Amino acid sequence: MRAVFLDRDGTLNVNTGYVGDPRDVRLIAGAAMGVKLLGDAGFATVVVSNQSGIARGYFSESDADAVDARVRELLAQAGASITATYRCPHLPDGECECRKPKPGMLLRAAADLNIDFASSWIVGDRLLDVEAGNAVGCRSVVVSGVPPHEPPEDFSLAQPEYFARDLVDAARYIVAHATEVRPQEAGTPYRPHETGTTSGRSAGAREKHA
Ligand SMILES: [Mg+2]
Ligand SMILES: [Zn+2]
Repeated sequence: MRAVFLDRDGTLNVNTGYVGDPRDVRLIAGAAMGVKLLGDAGFATVVVSNQSGIARGYFSESDADAVDARVRELLAQAGASITATYRCPHLPDGECECRKPKPGMLLRAAADLNIDFASSWIVGDRLLDVEAGNAVGCRSVVVSGVPPHEPPEDFSLAQPEYFARDLVDAARYIVAHATEVRPQEAGTPYRPHETGTTSGRSAGAREKHA
């Protein structure tokens, strides 16, 4: 099936920095409507989130579960649902295969949900979100994120298709352009552990997460 991979912090909810308490969760304006539009259009909505606060000891896996549940609860109150949620709890030291910009979470989701990358998208507020999508041949949209990142990131080499004001704008772009031929090739293919970079059936990093 086709999916939209969604970053969490800064894309669905306000990124207050290492969000580890469900009481701190606030949705970004437009997030719920955007997720609903994507679901209504037949996309699986799959959250893929780097949560190194776990490895850093700032909060636990169960705290992160509670935050994810709170995000889903707030979305559900507006009629929007999340198909599946994936998380990387590791440090940004390059030791794991799941932390974005690596595509391990996308590969796991594709194996679990039979996702076709070529007709799927990733939406996020950071360069590493776009790069994770590029690694498997997904199309990408950047949302502005709240608050903005300092210093600003240079997205030019990663070539996201569109810079959206918010998730509603992103969803409308995706729904309007989903059946068109993509306007450009995505960035460099992902090589380690991968042979078929656009195949949803490739094993990829799956064993490491079994
Ligand atoms: Mg983010
Ligand atoms: Zn990881």
